[in-house]
Amino acid sequence: MAKRYSIGRNPDNAFSYPAETTVSGTHAYLTLVSQSQLLIEDNRSTNGVHVNGQQVSTYLLQRGDSLRLGGLWLNVEALFREIWNREHPAERKSSQPTSNLPGVDVSDQFLQLRDVFNKYRAHLDEIDRLRQGTLADKIVRVSTLGMLTKLDTTNLRKLDQDVRDWFKMNYVCPNCMVHLNDFPWEALARQKKCARCKAIWVK
Ligand SMILES: [Zn+2]
Repeated sequence: MAKRYSIGRNPDNAFSYPAETTVSGTHAYLTLVSQSQLLIEDNRSTNGVHVNGQQVSTYLLQRGDSLRLGGLWLNVEALFREIWNREHPAERKSSQPTSNLPGVDVSDQFLQLRDVFNKYRAHLDEIDRLRQGTLADKIVRVSTLGMLTKLDTTNLRKLDQDVRDWFKMNYVCPNCMVHLNDFPWEALARQKKCARCKAIWVK
């Protein structure tokens, strides 16, 4: 039976965020279903669980999804990693190099950032197209985000903010978590390592 982790404001949660006033006492539960699927269940929270901009009661999270509890943005990739580490303590060193030692090899995780960057550009392009009104329908499917949105400026602004917030949380050095700004992935790959923590991005 997979272990269920509570997440919320109270300090006795498996993941606790005591300073987050928009997060309920025990806001939700997380269960690692497989290496690529993390189940989140809203525990009747006040401000809800939002995945990719939509409120959900239960959802199978995948890497790359954007997750918000009330006003708190969470890094889904980091949640996967943390729960995996808790459930596989012996493999922590070999499979998940997250130490702060300079020169740690995070090239596998760095490779995944290419998708994050490409998805970000695609999302912004799509929002631009919506803004220009080249799509006639009042309700359109934003295909790359997989969500429904009403075509009005309020929602577009919100969508734009969601995409930027998601990018900020996910386009980070896999080792020290510093945000990599809008630098294209290829430019960072040429740099080969993190200027801040010296972790190896490209071998
Ligand atoms: Zn770094």
